[in-house]
Amino acid sequence: MPEAASYRKVDLHTHSTRSDGKLSPTQLIDLAAEQKVSLFALTDHDTLDGLSEARQRAAEHELSFINGVELSTQWNGIPLHMVALNFSDDNSALQAIVKQNQSIRLDRARRIADLLVKQGLPDLFDEASTLAGESQLGRPHFAQLLVEKGLVKDANKAFDRYLGNKRLGKLRDVWPELEDVLGALAEQGMELILAHPKRYPLTVTKLRRLLGDFSKWGGTGIEVASGNERPDHVRLLESLSTTFGLKASAGSDYHGPFGPWMQVGKFTQIHESQVDLVWQHWH
Ligand code: AMP
Ligand code: MN
Ligand code: MN
Ligand code: MN
Repeated sequence: MPEAASYRKVDLHTHSTRSDGKLSPTQLIDLAAEQKVSLFALTDHDTLDGLSEARQRAAEHELSFINGVELSTQWNGIPLHMVALNFSDDNSALQAIVKQNQSIRLDRARRIADLLVKQGLPDLFDEASTLAGESQLGRPHFAQLLVEKGLVKDANKAFDRYLGNKRLGKLRDVWPELEDVLGALAEQGMELILAHPKRYPLTVTKLRRLLGDFSKWGGTGIEVASGNERPDHVRLLESLSTTFGLKASAGSDYHGPFGPWMQVGKFTQIHESQVDLVWQHWH
């Protein structure tokens, strides 16, 4: 017998074309409806641009829509992602952080292009900007160009060889400090969720230290499941969420149809009765 299902099928971590996803906000919501998701958040990287289109489309389906954004931050020099959920459209503290991150992102892209040139590659900045259009310009755009130009076999190789955190050197830690981002948002009534905690280069000891800081500085939850997370990792994260008094969130981190397991609304099953589900605080 599968564990009793939650009262709804949720997905609280997804991407559209407004950052590095493949589907427009409208297409993404249509797919979520098709997948029978009933509670959905769009969480593009460092932008709120897709929210109103997604919200409008969600209203045309039986779909509850939650505002979201995935913010780039850093802790002890390690880039970390934090998902903010359930904020109002006009939250100026959040808007200020998003704006700051967008300008860092653009500046970083220029410097990434320069770094690639130093390694003998063409200057991809203009093409990457064109490719991104009005979307948030990021490493996936550079990766796509490197693949299209036959300079690497696939996006994974592009990250391995050129774009991964290890390759970025000083460009790795350009983001605002986690403490400052949490400080600015902690009293704003939104959920502040540490995204995919097992995807960082941290031992469990260090992860515990991070969660201690995260909780002390006003973080409210962690993703206990992200896409096809290993079940033993989900068990560990469930246990850490309880230990640190952090709510449990979950999402697919869907960017597009990139693998057989990747689907909106799909993530490794969580033991719902053992955690404090963030969405059960919402009505
Ligand atoms: P950025 O936001 O510009 O730092 O780019 C980070 C994004 O790149 C992540 O959100 C992923 O969508 C994508 N990414 C990270 N690592 C890889 C990888 N190894 N292969 C493909 N895409 C990746
Ligand atoms: Mn991404
Ligand atoms: Mn992320
Ligand atoms: Mn994401």
